[in-house]
Amino acid sequence: MISHVPVGSMLPEHFQEVLAAEASAKFLQAVDEARRELGGVVIWNINSTPKGGGVAEMLRSLLAYARGGGVDARWVTIGGNADFFHLTKRLHNHLHGAPGDGGPLGDAEHAVFEDVANKAASELTPLIEEGDIVLVHDPQPAGLCGPLKEAGAKVIWRCHIGLDRANDLIREAWDFLRPYVEPADEFVFSRLSYAWDGLPKDHITVVPPSIDAFSPKNQEMEPDVVRAILSVAGIIPDGDGATTFTRVDGTPGRVNNRAVMHEVAPTPADAKVVVQVSRWDRLKDPLGVIKGFAERVDSPEAHLIYAGPAVEEVADDPEGAEVLEEARVAWEALPPGAKDRVHLAALPMQDGDENAAIVNALQRRADIVVQKSIAEGFGLTVAEAMWKGRAVVATRIGGIQDQVTDDTGVLVDDPLDLDAYGDAVAALLEDPERAATLGAAAKERVRDHFLGPRHLMQYLDIFRELKSRD
Ligand code: UDP
Repeated sequence: MISHVPVGSMLPEHFQEVLAAEASAKFLQAVDEARRELGGVVIWNINSTPKGGGVAEMLRSLLAYARGGGVDARWVTIGGNADFFHLTKRLHNHLHGAPGDGGPLGDAEHAVFEDVANKAASELTPLIEEGDIVLVHDPQPAGLCGPLKEAGAKVIWRCHIGLDRANDLIREAWDFLRPYVEPADEFVFSRLSYAWDGLPKDHITVVPPSIDAFSPKNQEMEPDVVRAILSVAGIIPDGDGATTFTRVDGTPGRVNNRAVMHEVAPTPADAKVVVQVSRWDRLKDPLGVIKGFAERVDSPEAHLIYAGPAVEEVADDPEGAEVLEEARVAWEALPPGAKDRVHLAALPMQDGDENAAIVNALQRRADIVVQKSIAEGFGLTVAEAMWKGRAVVATRIGGIQDQVTDDTGVLVDDPLDLDAYGDAVAALLEDPERAATLGAAAKERVRDHFLGPRHLMQYLDIFRELKSRD
């Protein structure tokens, strides 16, 4: 029922390369203090998937730096059956204010939820020692908060998703989940507006997510490597050099696997490229991204690449295959001139680092990165693109608003206004100078606010706070 996910080890000193001297000294001092203060304590992190999606992405990196800094940070995933993951996907959708499959959240669902939680808890609690700290991420493992607390751990419930203005659907999810998370000592949300009614206000902390500047997803990549990776992956045939990158654990990696492309013909090497990278999820609005582009961006040089994971690989996302199919059908129905310029890419997922390197290459190759989500907890893809100096066109929702400002990208007010999104893309493609200015400012914004050191130091503050309550 539970699996231990191997965590790499990365040296926190690495950040000297990207942070100003003062910021990196402050971080390294915090790492030193953490090593001393957390000696003998295990920092457990529990979620439901080792790959796919933003939480897995962050855990892989943050935990590696914690381990590299001498803190015993670990990662455990819980499994479940199809009923469980349909239910948790429903909860996930409700937490975004959407009905998902429209199914109920009643007694039968509580039974499904508790059955998985109890089985996972019976495997995990024997490993917990008094004083261990457990971060429980998102709805899937929420049912473990109580058992872990009883086993002697300090428990932090970390909710990565939410809605700017609560509606009835999200309240239903809160009511379903609240009894499970209430035993936690502290509640962490990505934005203050996501904090649930009924949780103790003085035990709520806001911690925005972050990206890892050195991971295969975000590390520097020379233009010829970008071209070679996109060629080998079958996305844009252009160049045949080395496809090497550095893995999360610091060892060398190479891109070998190909994406499955749905397209008339490959994107030309000299195309202006617009990219959205997202799981196959309706809340990322693949159909809107495709339609708005097809209807409003008419330059023959402009191509849209909508990339997501190869769907069968993401265990906790039963809707993935359906949504990819919907996108494919929408693409199939486009008029010929537009259809030629829209490409769907299902990226290989056998090797998480390789997948990340392909995403990195795609984002760097992009002239513009789009994140036209209808709901978004944070939107790591936005920070990833900004860190690469890309101009972003995104919707003014959720955590995207915390990242993109008027000086660092373009925000479209109404997520359902496809014309506004398409026109914003078209205008930026016409004005590469503006795109470059926005991109350069975007990179500085990420350096100041959205890298791992800020995130890890906020966690350390919470751990200290929990200790001070003893
Ligand atoms: N991602 C990826 N490969 C894919 C699709 C997405 O590595 O084929 C990554 C993406 O780069 C980002 C994360 O998955 O790091 C998605 O996080 P985000 O916060 O944007 O959205 P979520 O999936 O958590 O809703």
